[in-house]
Formats: sequence, structure tokens, C-alpha cells
Amino acid sequence: LTPIQSTDLLVAGLLAGGFALFAALLRLLTFSGALAAFIVGFLIFAFGGVPFAVPLLAFFLSSSLLSRVGRVRKAHLDDLVDKGHTRDAGQVLANGAVAATFAFLSWASPNSRNYLLLYLAALAAVNADTWATEIGTLWRGKPVSLATLRRTEPGMSGAVSLMGLVAALFGAVFIVLVGRLAWPAASLRFFLPVDLPEGLAIAWAGFTAAFADSVLGASVQAQYRCPRCGAVTEKRLHCDVPGGVTRGLPFVNNDVVNFVASGLGVLFAAILLYYFANPR
Ligand SMILES: [Zn+2]
Repeated sequence: LTPIQSTDLLVAGLLAGGFALFAALLRLLTFSGALAAFIVGFLIFAFGGVPFAVPLLAFFLSSSLLSRVGRVRKAHLDDLVDKGHTRDAGQVLANGAVAATFAFLSWASPNSRNYLLLYLAALAAVNADTWATEIGTLWRGKPVSLATLRRTEPGMSGAVSLMGLVAALFGAVFIVLVGRLAWPAASLRFFLPVDLPEGLAIAWAGFTAAFADSVLGASVQAQYRCPRCGAVTEKRLHCDVPGGVTRGLPFVNNDVVNFVASGLGVLFAAILLYYFANPR
């Protein structure tokens, strides 16, 4: 194994710390969220270097930007959905833990380029899901709930709209394109850049995982009814009182669903890459 240079560790710490601080100051992240982002960012920058850091920053910056767009229209969602727009540690880890694992595996397997491909798939899944939510909720049309197949409120877990699906597809393709641009130059191990069949496999895996996120959101994710006001939401506490579970499993919140979806992105990509993209 190649030891990580102390200067690289320093750069990784400064970069991850800088972005976490920036995100906390802009209230994109809570304090715990910034701490988690620092840890995830530091691990990815340290173990993966630039080819891993750039797609992560593309995910972070694009989703931060999109969450700021149309904030007034999205404000009412904070009362319904599990998590608001200032992301906490649970959300950061749900989106970043699988990716950080694959940055580590890539460092630990110096002869394989596959972990970089699977890393991109983990990010493509969470980016597709985030773009779908942030762009999908901007549209006036009401999405369809996969649980009831009826129209529901935009932004609810398990709700899908045409615009959300298109956004998910673009979100997955975006990560593949950034990954291709940031592909390591001039190294024996990464001599072959991500090619078209591989890129299509990763993007499709990311898109499918984002859809699976909605399926899980409509089935196993907990939904509660507030005993005080009767509202059906994803919040365990509403009007300061705990609600009764009307659907799903009590321990499955949005973070659990996002974490599983990013793992599914990797799994789908591994299958597609193996069968359709000429394994190397
Ligand atoms: Zn209530």
C-alpha cells in the first residue's frame, strides 16, 4: 500500500475543513453536519485525491445551489418532510458514507480502477436523488405517490414526477461527466479512462438507485400521523408530540433510505459493469 504523504493529508484537511466551514456559514449544514462533512471530505480527499474530490465537490456544490433555488416555494415542505434544508450529520453520512468507503477501497487496492467506477456510482445515486428532489419540487405540478398511485405533495418521500425523473437522469449523467473530466492522468492503473459503456452503466445505475430510493420512501420509510393536528408527515414529532406510524417501519427514516439507495447504486453499477461494459 502507498502511504499517504503528510502534505496530502494537510491539503485534504484544509480543503475539507474549508468547505465544511463555508457550508456551515451559509447554513447549508448544521454544526454536526459540517463536522460529518469534514470527516467524509477528509477521507475522500486523502484516500482518493483529485479524481475523487472533484466529483464529490460537484455533488456538494450543485445540490447546495439547487437547494437555494426556489426556497420560498420549498419552505412549506419543512413541515412535512423528515429533514429540512440545513443538512445534519445523518444526512451527510447517508449521502457520503458509501462513497467514502469506496475511496478507501480504491486506495487499498492499488491495481484496480473498479473502485473509482463504483465510487462514481455511489455519488451518481445520491446526486440523482438530490437533483430529483430539488428540481422536482420546483415544478407546480403535483407528483404521484408510489404508495397510493395518487397525486401527493411535492417533496414527500416516494413521490415521483416526470420532471423529477428527468432531473435524476441528468444528475447521474452529470457525475459521470465530472468523473470523466477529473479522471487521473498519466497513471498505469488508471490508463483507461471511464468509457461510454461504463459511463452509461454508472449513470443508469445511479438513476435506477434514485428511483429505488422513491420506492423505499413509499414503502418502508416511516410515515406518522400527528395525534394533535391530524397531519400525515415524515416527522416522528409534530406539534411537539410523537405521532403514530401509519406506514413503513419506525426505525427507517429518510437517512436510512438514502444510505441504502447509495449502496444500491454501487450494486446496480457492479452488475451492469460486469455484464455490459467489458470487465477489465
Ligand atoms: Zn401536528
